[in-house]
Amino acid sequence: MRPRPRRPSDPADDDDGPPPPKPLVTGVASALSPLVRRILAPNPGVMTGPGTNTYLVGIDEVAVVDPGPDDDGHLDAILGCGGDRIRWVVCTHTHPDHHPLTPRLAKATGAEVLAFDSRDGLEVDRELRDRDVIEATEFRLRAVHTPGHASNHLCYLVEEERLLFSGDHVMEGSTVVIAPPDGDMAAYLDSLERLRTMRPALRAIAPGHGHLIEDPKAKLTEYIEHRLARERQVLDVLRELGEATPADLAARIYVDLVEELVPRARQSVHAHLRKLAADGTATAPDLDDEAATWRPRLSS
Ligand SMILES: [Zn+2]
Repeated sequence: MRPRPRRPSDPADDDDGPPPPKPLVTGVASALSPLVRRILAPNPGVMTGPGTNTYLVGIDEVAVVDPGPDDDGHLDAILGCGGDRIRWVVCTHTHPDHHPLTPRLAKATGAEVLAFDSRDGLEVDRELRDRDVIEATEFRLRAVHTPGHASNHLCYLVEEERLLFSGDHVMEGSTVVIAPPDGDMAAYLDSLERLRTMRPALRAIAPGHGHLIEDPKAKLTEYIEHRLARERQVLDVLRELGEATPADLAARIYVDLVEELVPRARQSVHAHLRKLAADGTATAPDLDDEAATWRPRLSS
């Protein structure tokens, strides 16, 4: 038999590691696994990266994870992919890039709306808690409560594929913002550690923004180490300055930030300081006041 001609794109030619990830293209469903398809919403930005990923789970009965922004084209793309087989609409949390399309999608399909709670304009039919399960004919989708980025943040595990929808708890290509008081750094680190030690171990993470993450444990370890290194840096600079506001510290730690991200950096430093306060190594007159002056506490 004549050998198959090889093209530059032929996977057999690729000796340099895994093939590149499937491109993130707006409005087109892309199959990521036997059960899961992804549609990118048209809302790219500094905070959303390429845009919000909407996922469809299942073939005969479909759950939509994070419908995304209220956009006609995105609604058409989701309906074109799942149509009247859409039974559930689930949201990871209630930030505005993840849920606003929910009522129109639910109205068009009759789907049940589920999330941790009704908040920020989202109205749920049923509240989910940690370990609650959506049972479909082909899959089980389990809620995993992961507070940190938002107190009502849920990840969702497709048990059959050990694939986790991580919303904004873990992203690919952009940094997760922890903005107090709803954002909580100590809770965030605990939630990361919980995913890292989950049994059976995760096979892949499908984030709310960016590409599929195929090495979950390495990514989660990197996330935890990055935050702990930043925490040490915040404490070191605070000790060096003697006293400082979150804005002072952010200006020292985050250099060359684009203007749009400066408030986020300040919030992030504030989140670290609140964790340091809980750990007993820093203090301020009002822990919730972002403009407060902080001081290190001498360890006893
Ligand atoms: Zn988001």
